[in-house]
Amino acid sequence: RLVTLEGGEGAGKTTVLHALRDALASAGADVVCTREPGGTPLAERIRELLLDPNHEPASPQTELLLMFASRAQHVRETILPALKRGAWVLCDRFTDSSYAYQGGGRGLDPELIATLEREVVGIRPGLTLLLDVGVDEGRQRARGRDLVPDRIERERDEFFERVRAAYLARAAAEPQRIRVLDASRPAVEVAAEAVSALRTWMRE
Ligand code: C5P
Ligand code: MG
Repeated sequence: RLVTLEGGEGAGKTTVLHALRDALASAGADVVCTREPGGTPLAERIRELLLDPNHEPASPQTELLLMFASRAQHVRETILPALKRGAWVLCDRFTDSSYAYQGGGRGLDPELIATLEREVVGIRPGLTLLLDVGVDEGRQRARGRDLVPDRIERERDEFFERVRAAYLARAAAEPQRIRVLDASRPAVEVAAEAVSALRTWMRE
């Protein structure tokens, strides 16, 4: 009962997460909403480090290990305890983000990421909704909405194209777990489709 939201910048993950939370909560479920990087006080501090523009950019390897440091803490302190008591956990980004950003985007070896996933994380979502949107459109939306982190603003389109391609490749390899939603449509439509994908999955 771990459900994750994935996608590039400006895909609308947060909006969809709220719609899923409302749907589950109105059915009486115990729901925990959380996010990565972050999701515990320590992991949120690692997030701040990752997003802080006031130091030199993290090397790809540093970025990878900080992402997994955050995730290791998040899994043990937040996700596993919630799952254990029978709650639903909705998470904005999870390990698939590392395959997409640190693997596809930064070019790190997916085998290394797989090893960290197995040894450090140890769990996989039951359902992952991938909100797919074109790089240009996503970027424009992210800009209009909030501050785009400096390190992201500096990235070239090729970086985001690689992130998107890595996400889509994962979805093609694991169609049972990862459902791709066309996130170029209006947010309410995407949210409605996400809720129905969740309901379908719950019946399976
Ligand atoms: O999900 P959100 O947009 O809040 O993520 C914060 C930032 O961290 C984003 O700019 C995202 O691209 C970046 N990120 C990353 N690698 C991850 C997860 C997030 O570069 N594994
Ligand atoms: Mg968001």
